[in-house]
Amino acid sequence: MTNRRELLGHAVGALTGLAFANCGLASSAMGQATPKRREVVVNGKRVRTVDVHAHCHIPEANALMGLKVQTPSLVVSSERIGAMDEQGIDTEALSINPIFWYKAEPDLAAQVVRLQNEKLAEICTAQPDRFVGLASVALQHADLAAEQLDFAVRQLGLRGALVGGSVNGKELSDPKFHPFWAKAEQLGVLIFIHPQGTADLSASGRLKGNGVLDNVIGNPLETTIALSHLIFEGTLDAYPGLKICAAHAGGYLPSYAARSDQGCVTFPQRCTKTLEKKPSDYLKQLYYDSMVFTPEGLRHLVAEVGASQIVLGTDYPFPWTRTSVDHILRTPGLSDADRVAILGETAEKLLAMKPV
Ligand SMILES: [Zn+2]
Repeated sequence: MTNRRELLGHAVGALTGLAFANCGLASSAMGQATPKRREVVVNGKRVRTVDVHAHCHIPEANALMGLKVQTPSLVVSSERIGAMDEQGIDTEALSINPIFWYKAEPDLAAQVVRLQNEKLAEICTAQPDRFVGLASVALQHADLAAEQLDFAVRQLGLRGALVGGSVNGKELSDPKFHPFWAKAEQLGVLIFIHPQGTADLSASGRLKGNGVLDNVIGNPLETTIALSHLIFEGTLDAYPGLKICAAHAGGYLPSYAARSDQGCVTFPQRCTKTLEKKPSDYLKQLYYDSMVFTPEGLRHLVAEVGASQIVLGTDYPFPWTRTSVDHILRTPGLSDADRVAILGETAEKLLAMKPV
């Protein structure tokens, strides 16, 4: 019986000239059936797929904080490689959410981050075709974070860093964080902004109840607020060379960008800073993962920010999606070049990966 993926491959291929290898089963040396690695092909050409939104934990670093890894699949293992193979993900940019060390004092934060980045670099060095690393930084201590980023990139070979959407209630645009942004711009590396929820809204109780609202609303809202402050406080004007990628497709901001433009037109007396560009124009210099789930969501994101600004993201190991590759292959209106860029080519450049 023809399986779903094969049908999909034929359908998409017929429509757009795209095709990709069927995901069958192969026998391993041990005689057990293992999933075959799915190879993604666009218009007859094998393309490398890069997932910029993939989480992991380093158990030894958690232990320094007296914590255990709550989700076992956060620890990098062969199970992860199997999931990547099945989904057609060639390389993951591994990162670690900072929620558990943003309140640590400098000494402990330095230890946790150092260990974490060193272990992450070991994982990436062991399998350089499957993993690159985004460093951890202790952004609550901005000068330390700048040093940590420098060390992680120059000494450990990591490709950028993940930061939260705010740090202990302070916005990323706060001048306190300027040393970090200056270092990121100087190094030319990718900074992935990943929300840690909205603590103040959670505290008020407004996100309680059914629906996982602290995540499904709280996370994109946090990213929306973070990006808005970086734009309106002039951080992106001060550091125009920053390469920022926002998780979850930038939250709600690309869905309602025109309102950001109209605010200071409608209430000019309430706007205290003059920006170099229209607020929505800054959206076209940022990057976004592709986590909008539907073809219509991706079509709209492309219309707002451009296909050149979007990179594949899965949020692995959290099972938000297992069809991120198909999502990009199946969205109507994209050119082959757009699909290749979103699947991996843009991320390759942002993460300084060697072309294959
Ligand atoms: Zn995530």
